[in-house]
Amino acid sequence: MKQVVQLKEFSYILRINKVKIVDFWLEMEDVKNILGTHQIIVSDDRKKVFYELFDCIVGVVQWDLTISDCPIKNKFLQILSESSVNTAEIFTLFISLKNSVESYFYKEGLLSFGLSSDIEKIFLKVTNELYNTYEEMKDSVTDFKNEHSNLLNEYKKAVDLSNIVSKTNPKGIITYVNNKFCEISGYSRSELIGKPHNIVRHPTMQSSVFKELWDTIKEKKPWRGVVVNMKKDGRKYVVDSTIVPILDIDGDVVEYIAIRHDVTEFEQTKEQLSTLNRAMKHKVDELYSMTQVLEEQASIDVLTSTFNRAKFEEFFDLEFQKAKMQRNHLSIILLDIDRFKSINDTFGHDVGDSILKEIAKMIAKNIRSSDTLARWGGEEFAILLPGTQLDKAKVVATNLQQSILEHKFESVDTQITASFGVALCTESDNKEDFFKRADKALYKAKNSGRNLVVGEDEL
Ligand code: GH3
Ligand code: MG
Ligand code: MG
Repeated sequence: MKQVVQLKEFSYILRINKVKIVDFWLEMEDVKNILGTHQIIVSDDRKKVFYELFDCIVGVVQWDLTISDCPIKNKFLQILSESSVNTAEIFTLFISLKNSVESYFYKEGLLSFGLSSDIEKIFLKVTNELYNTYEEMKDSVTDFKNEHSNLLNEYKKAVDLSNIVSKTNPKGIITYVNNKFCEISGYSRSELIGKPHNIVRHPTMQSSVFKELWDTIKEKKPWRGVVVNMKKDGRKYVVDSTIVPILDIDGDVVEYIAIRHDVTEFEQTKEQLSTLNRAMKHKVDELYSMTQVLEEQASIDVLTSTFNRAKFEEFFDLEFQKAKMQRNHLSIILLDIDRFKSINDTFGHDVGDSILKEIAKMIAKNIRSSDTLARWGGEEFAILLPGTQLDKAKVVATNLQQSILEHKFESVDTQITASFGVALCTESDNKEDFFKRADKALYKAKNSGRNLVVGEDEL
């Protein structure tokens, strides 16, 4: 048997035969068992990691290095750690690797007692170092896991303190309630566990809300909404609820978690506010219609229900400006009942009033909706006729004159007449001049015998 004395030669043989040795190692029963148990698939990438690790081991032999200088060892240990390989299995893996080396040298007739003990020493050293690193790595993973589970506990505490939490199975049977749930519902934990969740359902809650809730969570989607619940003593409480379906690894719902906030006070305040709002709106409406009545009262003549003089002035301003801006015609008719004083004197003031009313009605009937009728003074009326030329306005006035003349007033057996003055606004007019011309025409109608229509063109 040939003896390999020098470690240098030993390491050289290892290096050139690493693929054979590692592949042989991967085929060993113990190794295959461990890899199979932990479902570690030996892909080409992983094989590369194993070869590189083997290179490191050769470095340890050749240069008397330590395996801790080998960067690939972390990747190798990571693979084992992710697959939850335990430390005993790590030993087994490295003893197998040592056996694979030994059996190669044995097969090649290169194994001696001295070399065997050297191999033993080297692999013991490497295994020890890797074992320690692996322990450290696992410790840090455990620390991380502990830290997370502590954090989760803190979260759970915080959620439990500020929320009403319950869990139900997929059929809606309560499997868990926290203290807050018991406090607010007035039920003890044992009264709730095992009962259907609708134990706290308030009768006023519409079934459609629960239908929508179940439709959503059965679809494996979270549901959020405000629900009115009922305490054990029958009082209601309102909760803003979020219900989350929890799925198992196959994606099936295993349970529902419901997290709720008590919003009873908020809902009550909201209700009070909306009642207050409604009352205020009612008051505002009342005020608005009162203002409208007042406004109407301020612009309508009580006796004849036509516009009063103040309102007429407003319309006059408006129509005058419009006519100027739009270069539109604007005519005015002034009407004064003839010898009204003597009607009053003969038949009484009340009869005079009724005649004023009747004449106002007659005028209103005989003008367009775009014309404006107002009681200008005692027995005088003014009519604004936008878009009307002088001739047309005179025709309107003549029709009115005829109507009054021919009208049989019920309360008096005499004929009643009126005089009319008509004017048309010119481009250079101001309001006063325009009105004055109509007044002059009316004056002329009076002086010319009354019961007449006089246009400004006849002045
Ligand atoms: P003329 O043809 O010149 O217009 O004669 P007149 O009598 O109509 O004119 P005058 O201005 O002298 O008289 C107007 C009368 O109208 C005086 C007043 O008693 C009467 N009058 C004014 N306002 C009212 C009212 O609201 N009701 C009644 N019944 N009469 C009123
Ligand atoms: Mg008069
Ligand atoms: Mg008069």
